[in-house]
Amino acid sequence: MPVASDPADLDSDGAGDHDGQLPINELFHSLQGEGRLAGVPTVFVRTSGCNLRCWFCDSYHTSWEPTGDWYGVDELLAAIGEYDADHVVLTGGEPLIHDASGDLLAALDDRGYHTTVETNGTIAPDAPIDLASVSPKLATSTPTAARDPKGSGEWADRHEERRLDLSTLADIVERYDSQLKFVVTGPEDMAEIESLVERLRAATETTIPDHRVLLMPEGQTREQLDETRRVVAELAMEHGYRYTPRLHVDLWNDAPGT
Ligand code: SF4
Repeated sequence: MPVASDPADLDSDGAGDHDGQLPINELFHSLQGEGRLAGVPTVFVRTSGCNLRCWFCDSYHTSWEPTGDWYGVDELLAAIGEYDADHVVLTGGEPLIHDASGDLLAALDDRGYHTTVETNGTIAPDAPIDLASVSPKLATSTPTAARDPKGSGEWADRHEERRLDLSTLADIVERYDSQLKFVVTGPEDMAEIESLVERLRAATETTIPDHRVLLMPEGQTREQLDETRRVVAELAMEHGYRYTPRLHVDLWNDAPGT
């Protein structure tokens, strides 16, 4: 699937309405690299646009500089059907900022696909989803002036106001099979993760077992993961949470389309 011009009619939050179409940054076949379905052959549909701006975003061209082109649901179903895979991951950016993501998920559900949605957990879905893979953003994600990859911290306040919404997180874990996936930069993140998990448990009657809380090392290259994976694995053992690899980085480093 070609990647074309900037979807110029996205607003500053990355959302847009284009006659029921979705702004697509890329669509590709690979192995699921993260979480409890790691290793499963999967078609990835990556939408462009995000309502947050994590400084370490590993899909820069869906958030800081969104690029892609518009595709209708039928075109996407045809492209997905070209691959021998019954699992589809809808990811971004933040795919749930687009109303048409719900149309695509409903159409995939009708056709018997297993769907995973990779979301930052700030927007309540309105669609059939088999696995909500929720990645709440920690304080260390905020693009302060010193860490801003593009400007001088202009997004920091907006990001900080939006990055956590406990009632939306509770709504998602109540309505969907889910996993909570935290990008961990080091031991300094653990107090915030533990606090958030406890607050979320208090906000819902749904049980959130420790094995549904995933710690994932921060790093977009093998070299970066070499610095973090052992530390994060030991933190998972210490706290009783689940470690998740970044299998696609281990296998293909930072090659695009993996
Ligand atoms: S929420 Fe995800 S896609 Fe959006 S800026 Fe953060 S890491 Fe990137």
